[in-house]
Amino acid sequence: MTTMSRMPASKGEEDQLRVRARRQSKTHCLTFDIEEHFQVSAFESPVQRRSWDQFESRVERNTYKILEMVRVHNVRATFFVLGWIAERHPDLVRSIAAEGHEVASHGYAHQLITAQTPDQFRSDVRRAKEILEDIVGEAVVGYRAPSFTIMEETKWALPILVEEGYRYDSSIFPIVHDRYGMPGAQPHCHQRTTPFGPIWEVPPATVRIAGTRFPVAGGGYFRFFPYPVLRMLLRKAEAELEPLVMYLHPWEIDPEQPRMRGPLLSRFRHYLNLEKTESRLMCLLSDFRFGPIRDIMTPIQALNVSPPDKGDAVVECV
Ligand SMILES: [Zn+2]
Repeated sequence: MTTMSRMPASKGEEDQLRVRARRQSKTHCLTFDIEEHFQVSAFESPVQRRSWDQFESRVERNTYKILEMVRVHNVRATFFVLGWIAERHPDLVRSIAAEGHEVASHGYAHQLITAQTPDQFRSDVRRAKEILEDIVGEAVVGYRAPSFTIMEETKWALPILVEEGYRYDSSIFPIVHDRYGMPGAQPHCHQRTTPFGPIWEVPPATVRIAGTRFPVAGGGYFRFFPYPVLRMLLRKAEAELEPLVMYLHPWEIDPEQPRMRGPLLSRFRHYLNLEKTESRLMCLLSDFRFGPIRDIMTPIQALNVSPPDKGDAVVECV
């Protein structure tokens, strides 16, 4: 080995390598679940829920920061917005749509599906869809459940989504987890049949290691691994799954957020490495190419739900 070959790459060379790798990278799906830091299911309690309007709202500032970050990288994404948030911050939702991002639904009240009856679930997803569509003036066809709680015992939710006009779901995590997951579910985008018609399932990204499927999609997993390890896992995952579906929340780029009371494990998962998320997201946006689910995931793209050329269908940002 020559002396030159042992020398570390300069910053400029590193940047060039990064740009080249990004150009060669497949395009993946970037998604954000738009909710407040106090709406996280792990801290949920009836008393706390009744106090939602008394907590400090931080979602608008954090989401605008995300919009700025993706704008810098010329990236568009899918934003699963909570109906409760859209009601209180309609201009934020208009801004998301006006910048060419996909607005999708995170339901209205962030109740776990495991805690809802089918009738409650129907009215929750209907209310969220109506609020979002009124604001953006275009069809909202994507749904993601609070804490990915479409599981074996809540599969009844899928035909309801079809009946309510949703065309795809991104809630089934094909992993073993203490609070959610459907181990053995297909890790790729796939169609599920229901008595009321088909729905596309768009699972968050996972990677298969030694026969077991591990999550690498975002959230706590994104913050847990050192970034170079995460990048290596994502490169491994993209060789198997195409495209990957990543997710993050606005509160994850907000290390100053007030701390909530809750179980130790929940606090660990929620607050781990929050101060690193913003720089990691910037690295992720430099290393990989991204777009919204409706434009990148081929079967969803074929549904032809994108507004034509971001014209009259998108309400002006005010
Ligand atoms: Zn959520």
